[in-house]
Amino acid sequence: MEEKKFPCPRCKKVKGEEVFMMEKHDMLVCPKCKTSFFLEGKSPLGRYEDDWKKNAEEIFPLLRPPLYQSDLENARLFFLYEDCYHTLLIGRYNASIVLMGVLLETIMKERIWLKLGIDSRGTYGGCLRMMEKEKLMKAGDIYFLRRFKDEIRNPYTHADESEILEGIFVPVYPLQFEGEFSLERLEQGFESVKSGQLKPKLLPASEVPAIRSVVKHEYDRRRAISLFNQVYDFLLAAKIKYFKQEEYEEHCEKFGTRLEKVEHYKVSEKEAESP
Ligand SMILES: [Zn+2]
Repeated sequence: MEEKKFPCPRCKKVKGEEVFMMEKHDMLVCPKCKTSFFLEGKSPLGRYEDDWKKNAEEIFPLLRPPLYQSDLENARLFFLYEDCYHTLLIGRYNASIVLMGVLLETIMKERIWLKLGIDSRGTYGGCLRMMEKEKLMKAGDIYFLRRFKDEIRNPYTHADESEILEGIFVPVYPLQFEGEFSLERLEQGFESVKSGQLKPKLLPASEVPAIRSVVKHEYDRRRAISLFNQVYDFLLAAKIKYFKQEEYEEHCEKFGTRLEKVEHYKVSEKEAESP
């Protein structure tokens, strides 16, 4: 089958060079200037997989070592930990931070269940108030949970970009094209930026919706890595301090297992012994 060759329009127009674009998954990419186009009707799955893999390989060494189910017997907490970890590895930083809030809320719910026998269905704030009132954790740990709620959980859960980026300034090159826009003039603008002829303007990211989401994505990456490690340490310390074997035994004695009323199948000695 004959392969159609497609020259890069940018390289041709700007430098007068004929560079053929290369097909990669659902895209055509110029090997020289990296200009790219989407191809209609091609699956993006291969591109997604490349991105996931690249991101995971970069981020994996910056995170605490992976946990296994045997490290964290509580299945509810283990699955939520994996939600935070895996979304971070594939580069969904915002999702990972939102899920860290869910994990911390669930640590509180499990603690409330263990000590008070209450299957809490409340919010993060409601759980926090109960933790404080009943003194279900040490003051320093409750302080960590409260700070996480105010500084991270609330703005991320409500996608409050301006609060998240409060106080962050970013260098921006505002270019205005007088008359008709052309590729040459865009290139000219890029060149003035690259050569240092144009100086960047420092703008508050929270006040400029046009740049906010892009700035936030990069900012979330750094933040998510550091937050993940803090939440991970909190989780492992909580496991030792607040989910002790004797507390589970005490819980069962006080509140039962909820399996008491269920008719149990009897396993006779004879059957158990047979191979
Ligand atoms: Zn090119």
